[in-house]
Amino acid sequence: MIKQTSLPASNRFIQKIQPTPLVPVQLDPAGPSIWCKLEFLNPSGSTKDRIARYILEKAWRRGELGPGSSVVEASSGSTSIALALACAQMDLRFTAVLPEGVSNERVWIIRAYGGEIVLVPKAQGMAGAMAHAEQLAEKTGAFFTRQFENKDNPESHRIGTAKEILQQLPNGIVHAAVSGVGTGGTLIGLYQGLSEEGCPVIPALALPITVGGHFHGECCSFSCRIPGVVDGLSKLYREAHLPGLIEIEIADELALATTKKLIRKGFPVGPSSGLNYAAAVIAADKLGADATIVTVFPDRMERYFSTELFADVQK
Ligand code: PMP
Repeated sequence: MIKQTSLPASNRFIQKIQPTPLVPVQLDPAGPSIWCKLEFLNPSGSTKDRIARYILEKAWRRGELGPGSSVVEASSGSTSIALALACAQMDLRFTAVLPEGVSNERVWIIRAYGGEIVLVPKAQGMAGAMAHAEQLAEKTGAFFTRQFENKDNPESHRIGTAKEILQQLPNGIVHAAVSGVGTGGTLIGLYQGLSEEGCPVIPALALPITVGGHFHGECCSFSCRIPGVVDGLSKLYREAHLPGLIEIEIADELALATTKKLIRKGFPVGPSSGLNYAAAVIAADKLGADATIVTVFPDRMERYFSTELFADVQK
């Protein structure tokens, strides 16, 4: 057990991340205006800076981490990038366990921050990466952040993202919080943080679908074309209490088209932002003109330059 419980003075920056802006966005002049939290403006370019910072700081205070300690996570997405940045700031070592085939952009960003990459065979997928990360943590004594089960993940959104939203909204009330689910941390935290402040908030799950699609080899409608948004993987989400939850299915084509529209409007976002916005428009439709609908733009477009989202600009 490490004795030091305060952060070194040189690393205070990590505790000074500013609230992200909350702005009304109306893509269709005849459509609703949606309050969008610009999470892509966090320091590493995604909302995952919140959970990375929060999980590591709490572990540090508990004495489970100190200068030079090792951290491990299995995430092919923004969480590894956010952890790599936070570890660089806090003088920690970071290893990301990823399935082969993850985009070069991600691997290079993690390495640029000093993180190490361990690749597991593609066929093993995220489940294989998680099992490998578990073994690595056991063998080396590294701190495993476990984003899919760590309650500090939704808590960072409950006490952070949700409270910022209430302070930023002119009328201080939210009727629906809309988000796709990876770990579920965002949706759970928003629901808890807003409802505990008295908002009559409905949690709304944005679900990407594709007709005749496949997931984990089985035929189902869940679409894998929106990175970061997964189906059924998260223990946090499976065990969450979300009364009144509504599920809003969005065709993956619409999610991608909406993402492109957001980018053309000057929001440099990734595909899950288009999914969230399209679902929020449906939620607004269901709840009526007076309802305040909030969603998040989780990450930045630059991470997707090598994907189909940018096929038309790669000439
Ligand atoms: N969008 C992106 C790009 C993500 O990487 C993630 C999480 N991996 C999400 C959305 C979903 O967020 P959460 O994990 O809080 O459910």
